[in-house]
Amino acid sequence: MPASVRSFIIVHCEPGLPPDGSHPEAQWGNLAHLVSMAEAQRCNLTIALSPPWGRFALQWPNLRSTLARWIASGHELAYHHHGYGSPPGWDGFSNVPAAAAHPEYRGTAEDGFALVTATLPAAPVRVGAMTGAASDWSEDLTIRAKGGGALSVPTLETVNGCEVLAVTYEPIAGSGSALTPADVRDLIATARDGEVLGLVLHVEHVRASWRSVQAVMYELVGGAGPSERLSEVCDGGG
Ligand SMILES: [Zn+2]
Repeated sequence: MPASVRSFIIVHCEPGLPPDGSHPEAQWGNLAHLVSMAEAQRCNLTIALSPPWGRFALQWPNLRSTLARWIASGHELAYHHHGYGSPPGWDGFSNVPAAAAHPEYRGTAEDGFALVTATLPAAPVRVGAMTGAASDWSEDLTIRAKGGGALSVPTLETVNGCEVLAVTYEPIAGSGSALTPADVRDLIATARDGEVLGLVLHVEHVRASWRSVQAVMYELVGGAGPSERLSEVCDGGG
C-alpha cells in the first residue's frame, strides 16, 4: 500500500514593478481566482506575499479584509523575498551593507518583512521563501520553503542563526519543466513515509495554466487529500 503523503501549494506573489507584469496591481485578481479555485476543492494555500504586495494590501482596507477572510477559511500567509542581487529582481529590502547605497534600496530586511506582517497583525507568518543573503532571514520564520524537488522530508537547518524546518517544492505552472497533473499522480504513488509533496506557482502564471493547476488539485484531492497549509504539514497535526 502506498504511503500517505501530505501536500502543500505555496503561491509566490512576486515583487515585480510595472511593466514587469507580476506586480500586485496587475495580479491581485489572479490571486483571488486561484484562491477560489482552491476553495472549490477544499485545498488550502500558503500565500507568500513579497513586500510590494504587503504595501499594496496596506493601501486598501478591502484587500486586507479579503486576506483576513482567506486566512479564516484555512489558507496561510507567508513571506516571499527577493534579496539584494537576486537574478529575478530585487524587492528593495536587504540587510547586506552594500545594498543601502543602491538607488532602489527601500529599507532593511525587517522593514520588508513588516510590510507583509502588518497586513494581518493577528496572523502569524511562519513560512519564508526567499533568495539572497541569509542575513535577511527573520527569526519569526520557522519554516523555509525552497526549490530542490517535489518530495522531501522536512529537515532542520540553520539560517541566519535560526533553526528552521526546510521543505522543498517544484513548480506546477510557468516554466517548461513544470510538473503536469500526471507527474503529480506519479509522485503521490511513489512517495515514501514521511515525505511531503511540495508544489509552487507564481501568481502571474495562473491565467495561462489554470486548467493544469486545477487538474493538479484534482490529483491531490483524489490521491493525497487536499493540499494543506505548510505550517500545518510541518506541525504534523491532523
Ligand atoms: Zn519570487
